[in-house]
Amino acid sequence: FYISYLNPHKIILFMKIAVIGTGYVGLVQGAALADVNHSVICVDKIKEKIIHLNEFCEGKRNDLPILEPDLPRLVKENNDKKRLIFTTDINQAVREAKVIFIAVGTPSNEDGSANLTHVKNVAQDIGRAMNYESDSPIYKIIVTKSTVPPMTYRMVHDTIAKETKNEFDIVSNPEFLAEGRAVKDCLRPSRIVIGTSNAKAASIMEELYEPFKSREVSILFMSNIDAEMVKYASNTYLAAQVSLTNAMANLSRELGADWRKVLEGVKKDIRVGRFVYPGLGFGGSCFPKDVRELIHTMEQHRPDSDDLSYVKMIVRQNEAQKGMFLPRMEKYFSGFEGKKFAIWGTTFKPETNDVRESAGVHMIKELLLKGAYVSVYEPSGSEQAMFTLSLDEKLKPHLSRLSFVSDMYEAVRNAEGLLITVEWNDFRNPDFLQVKNLLKKPVIFDGKDILNPRQMKEEGFDYFSVGRPDVLGYSQ
Ligand code: NAD
Repeated sequence: FYISYLNPHKIILFMKIAVIGTGYVGLVQGAALADVNHSVICVDKIKEKIIHLNEFCEGKRNDLPILEPDLPRLVKENNDKKRLIFTTDINQAVREAKVIFIAVGTPSNEDGSANLTHVKNVAQDIGRAMNYESDSPIYKIIVTKSTVPPMTYRMVHDTIAKETKNEFDIVSNPEFLAEGRAVKDCLRPSRIVIGTSNAKAASIMEELYEPFKSREVSILFMSNIDAEMVKYASNTYLAAQVSLTNAMANLSRELGADWRKVLEGVKKDIRVGRFVYPGLGFGGSCFPKDVRELIHTMEQHRPDSDDLSYVKMIVRQNEAQKGMFLPRMEKYFSGFEGKKFAIWGTTFKPETNDVRESAGVHMIKELLLKGAYVSVYEPSGSEQAMFTLSLDEKLKPHLSRLSFVSDMYEAVRNAEGLLITVEWNDFRNPDFLQVKNLLKKPVIFDGKDILNPRQMKEEGFDYFSVGRPDVLGYSQ
């Protein structure tokens, strides 16, 4: 046992835990559980990933497969203390662990439904791995950490039950971490949701999460279906807030109002949330996919309702928002064919190397398809962006017009204009003189409204943002 540093009055018994899937959720959650003294085995089916993680722990390389602030320290320290290990061997992990987390990806299918192939495969593997020889009765708790549509717990249960006669319970325990602050979010979660109708499983999960509990962090117990629904409802609320913000910011700009000023007034109402800063729409691995999956569920249960149209509109607004600069750029530059544009940023937000469904990748694609040359500077996710773009068959004939460079100023050399898609700190206050001298014409399209319009005018730039009127510091 040990004494929880988060709650010094509690004595905690450590548990043996397996986490299947070492992506953004599995790796961070595994490291956070090890950090409170649980003994964690992380499993991934990709051998190279496990080799990468082990080489990092042995000091043979400096980077982890994913970029998250503070994660390298957490992984290294807990591996050194022998309570966080990495393997491809799911059988060993299941044999040793009392609680097994499923943290594999659930990408969208073409029709918007969640692709549960990975979850199902892991459930099968877990069931098979539970058939080992043991002197005592075998009992496991299988925790669904992956975001899965309501009712998936039944599929996980039935899949495992087909493979084993041993006893187990399914707990639905959605994850609410946000990339870029995943370690903080896991160590001090906003809430811990435990979905199960089984008292024994609930009590073991409470014990497991006890070190994370505090006055501010409560454990919420509910049924599996409630817990599965919490995750979709939370992300749809947040996505709706982003799309509504962008709709309001777009209108402000058209009317000649300044969204930053409007916001000062709006934000004084504490009922308004955090996602009130305009941008080129939401991206990443969660909001777009989770809202699509919720739509798919609504199509089955409430097909003709306005509720469904309402949620669908969140996605439509967002898709339009990602490309909202295109007509404005087309007009300003009189077309794209043969012209070179610079893009800063391809990740969906700062402090991550995740480029899934990002505005940066979307704009690269659009500009290439319209015949432009594109020069990109990306602080952390260039490999991921190049890989993602290389998978798009339509883009193949156009990729020769795309270059990634390792210097943000090099990217703007001889470009017609600069487009900023994400708010990395380096982009907030660049050397404007250098940018101006390197660009063919001093023009910036700021997709996160991070630059100051007055300063842009003084520096002699034409400047276009999301939620503020256009500034013509060069053309006029
Ligand atoms: P990811 O794609 O980064 O990682 C998934 C990992 O699972 C990969 O390393 C993959 O190799 C591994 N995997 C797949 N099948 C496997 C198998 N059969 N055996 C072992 N390993 C296997 O995904 P992620 O971003 O970590 O997301 C995981 C889940 O958590 C998704 O359902 C997602 O919606 C949800 N989620 C993600 C976030 C986030 O910010 N990324 C936040 C909350 C919830």
